Amino acid sequence: MIDYLTINETLNMFKKISIKIIENEPLLTQIDLKTGDGDHGTGMKIGFQAVLNMLEQDKSLNSIQEIFKSVGMKLIDTMGGVSGVLFGTLFISGISKIKNNEHLTLEEFQKALNLATDAIMERGGAYLGDKTMIDALMPAVCALKQSCEEGLNFKEATKKAYQAAKDGVDNTKKMLAKKGRAMSFREKSIGYQDAGATSIMLIFSAIYESI
Ligand code: ADP
Ligand code: MG
Repeated sequence: MIDYLTINETLNMFKKISIKIIENEPLLTQIDLKTGDGDHGTGMKIGFQAVLNMLEQDKSLNSIQEIFKSVGMKLIDTMGGVSGVLFGTLFISGISKIKNNEHLTLEEFQKALNLATDAIMERGGAYLGDKTMIDALMPAVCALKQSCEEGLNFKEATKKAYQAAKDGVDNTKKMLAKKGRAMSFREKSIGYQDAGATSIMLIFSAIYESI
């Protein structure tokens, strides 16, 4: 079985991600109001609306690398702030190590996201358990890696990654924020899930649905 994403499928995946984030702006805002400064939903919506516009208008994006990098750059340019850089890094940092420009295999996808996770941790200084996007991202990427080893297909693997991200989000409810604006909320943030982790879960849910 040939199991990879084509350029068109990759474009479609990013459109689905964008729509999912835009639709969930109220939820993200509500969560960030409990644990942060309340701007995460609007920031993500601005970023992914700009991504969606770009994907609909720019017909020159004709390689896997170009698509990932343009999406990441658009997020950094339009979202601003630390989270803009971190979400941009998610799509920029690993993909340049991938040789294939026409197709994206599960192995390559997993590798790119793994490298990106390391880059986000290096840049933001957050580790597992700090109540950030890392708490959803790392489990999701680990699940992808395991699925590769088990020989699962793209659909099965992304379903497992989404479930791992969802469990990761649930785990953040018990955590004390150690990074970002949520830090000033300290104990008050216990009981609430992290906003950035929720965005990661929504991204993996859209990836799964797009395949
Ligand atoms: P800001 O914290 O600048 O207001 P947002 O509200 O858009 O930015 O995003 C907040 C989310 O960003 C948090 O919920 C958390 O998941 C993530 N985040 C913040 N700081 C870091 C960091 N240093 N490393 C990883 N993720 C972080
Ligand atoms: Mg915020």
